[in-house]
Amino acid sequence: MKIQLLQRKIPVGISQCAMGDPVRYNGGHKHSKVCTGLLAQCFEYVPLCPEVAIGMGVPRKPIHLLVEKASAPVDAVRVVGVEDAKVDVTEPLRDYADSVVPELRKVRGYIFMQNSPSCGLYGVRRYLDNGHGIDSEGVGIFARRLQQQFPHLPMEEVGRLNNSELRENFLTRVFTYDAWFRYVEEPEGNNAEGKEGADEGEAAKPQSLIARVIEFYTAHKYLLLAHHQEKTRALGRLLADAKTMSDDELVFEVRGRIMDILSRPATRKDRTNALMHSAGHLSEFLDKREKAELKDLIEEYRLGHKPLSAVLTLLRHFLPRSPHSFIHSQVLLAAEPAELGLCDFH
Ligand code: SF4
Repeated sequence: MKIQLLQRKIPVGISQCAMGDPVRYNGGHKHSKVCTGLLAQCFEYVPLCPEVAIGMGVPRKPIHLLVEKASAPVDAVRVVGVEDAKVDVTEPLRDYADSVVPELRKVRGYIFMQNSPSCGLYGVRRYLDNGHGIDSEGVGIFARRLQQQFPHLPMEEVGRLNNSELRENFLTRVFTYDAWFRYVEEPEGNNAEGKEGADEGEAAKPQSLIARVIEFYTAHKYLLLAHHQEKTRALGRLLADAKTMSDDELVFEVRGRIMDILSRPATRKDRTNALMHSAGHLSEFLDKREKAELKDLIEEYRLGHKPLSAVLTLLRHFLPRSPHSFIHSQVLLAAEPAELGLCDFH
């Protein structure tokens, strides 16, 4: 399997105020240049403002998350007016989230505005009914509902995307989630589904679901190892026994595990390990000087003296010498978001 570069932008949901639309309670917006500039080069946005959508209007009275006590579980919250707690929009916001589920089935990621009782994903302030802030353990009610409806969908907050490591991790998750649907769950019309290396004009042979899942895992193996070695090996063991699972179980379990592994940012140490594995596949085709050059470069990367792109460039330079499809299929060698081609970061 070879993951093809996309000819289209990936659909991603986003809090509408981040697009610069004046939909906030005070009539303002929270425009994110990272979202509408950098990331818009690879994402096609589906902007939604749940509070406007349920008819709260602009401007509107502010709302916040209300809990009975500090230890209240994440779903034991109400969304009520700051000035008048009798204004309760909990159910309308939950119902609205449920109503947009069909529309959001096509999105491959979601970017939420932070600190919002509707859209916040992490650490939203929660209040007691006497108005005192009690903790920052809340999740916006709309975001929470979408987490439940799409448990594996890559999600991130606008503000965190200013951090390059978190941004790269989000991009990697979105690209992988999108690729999963294109190759595994919705392969119809995808030119990668046919037999790799098939002669021109030869009809593509449909693969079984289990074959597609295993091929997807195989192509992502070194990328996954760079994020979490132990969980990647556990996934490999699960796939060895996958014939006992129903199709639905298989898809849900493997998709969930892959997205869980990728949710941990790749460390330099684990990436070095995956790069060493990749280099090992090429060593028989390199002379002594080339092997040393590659080894030294990976060591320079491990020490933080060289960027990942330098190692990937050299690996790709040597790649055509290997006739083995396993190493050619490795997404790790092509998937650094800044290099993917569909994101022009220059
Ligand atoms: S945070 Fe969400 S609800 Fe609030 S203005 Fe932005 S899109 Fe609308």
